[in-house]
Amino acid sequence: MKMIVTGGAGFIGANFVYYELREHPEDQIVCYDALTYAGNIATLAEARKSSQFTFVRGDIADRAAVDALFAREKPDVVVNFAAESHVDRSIETPEIFLQTNIIGTSILLDACRKYGIKRYHQVSTDEVYGDLPLDRPDLLFTEETPLHTSSPYSSSKASADLLVQAYARTYGVPVTISRCSNNYGAFQFPEKLIPLMVIRAMKGEQLPVYGDGKNVRDWLHVDDHCSAIDAIVRRGAEGSVYNVGGHNERSNIDVVRTILRVLGRGEEQISYVTDRKGHDRRYAIDPTKIGRELGWQPQTKFDDGIEAVVAWYRDHTSWWEDILSGVYEKRNAEA
Ligand code: NAD
Repeated sequence: MKMIVTGGAGFIGANFVYYELREHPEDQIVCYDALTYAGNIATLAEARKSSQFTFVRGDIADRAAVDALFAREKPDVVVNFAAESHVDRSIETPEIFLQTNIIGTSILLDACRKYGIKRYHQVSTDEVYGDLPLDRPDLLFTEETPLHTSSPYSSSKASADLLVQAYARTYGVPVTISRCSNNYGAFQFPEKLIPLMVIRAMKGEQLPVYGDGKNVRDWLHVDDHCSAIDAIVRRGAEGSVYNVGGHNERSNIDVVRTILRVLGRGEEQISYVTDRKGHDRRYAIDPTKIGRELGWQPQTKFDDGIEAVVAWYRDHTSWWEDILSGVYEKRNAEA
């Protein structure tokens, strides 16, 4: 099988590339990535040594480039991770989110229609469901929860989901969608909560926590997300949406305190800052369907996973130092 993985130089996409190379040595992986500020070619250094793997630099919103890619590679499967993914950036500059997340998705879907495909998988997010109240722990997002978005990021992701479903219904494109909770793991860009806090804590800097820090996220280790997508792509029912989560709800302040504890640092490093505009209070996923239909279960408990991830950032300082210094952009420019 030949699989195009878009956005494979980013956090989850790169972890998925390594998961596929490990678990499916019979398959060919073509990573298609624009190498925006969030992409890092160095993350794929090991993958590029494999004869199973090819890297192609390109934009999913560039119709001619996507058409040429499909004509040349004739993929069986497309897994779309490529996206603008940072909520704060979407509040500052919404337009690029519409361009990549909506137009880019529609261009990929057009190529799937034109060239034929066995499966198009859209990597979506639990943020399309909006948020839940803090005082109703009994409420969880199911696949039937109405879409109800809060930020330009989540609106663009919800729009893409609707387009994917429309292409399935109107043109018969064989699609699946996964909606996952917050991920943590290796290779996450240092603007996101966990790497940001780990790096600042290690450097002895202040850790900026939005608002009162009580916003709750449902954390899943990135390897568990990758195994879920793999199961959906290979065995999931055509046309289906699957929620992916691990029942690991934690408030942001609890996550920050855990990081400080693992690193042996004190809570005087925490500082509270003005809340994000429209900040969602709580996300919580009900993953019953993927467990029932595909037998998927998360393998990593948050307390174990967070210790391993803190250790990863401690042991891979050059990976994130090259990002903070901007050196990674020079390598990207040569890719
Ligand atoms: P990321 O920002 O780390 O990586 C995005 C990747 O996409 C980068 O390599 C970037 O270069 C590439 N890209 C951006 N625009 C592109 C374009 N126009 N054409 C081609 N490539 C482009 O993102 P991530 O955290 O790995 O998230 C991957 C996907 O998973 C996204 O679709 C996101 O919405 C979804 N998701 C993320 C989380 C999370 O916790 N990070 C949770 C659920 C769902």
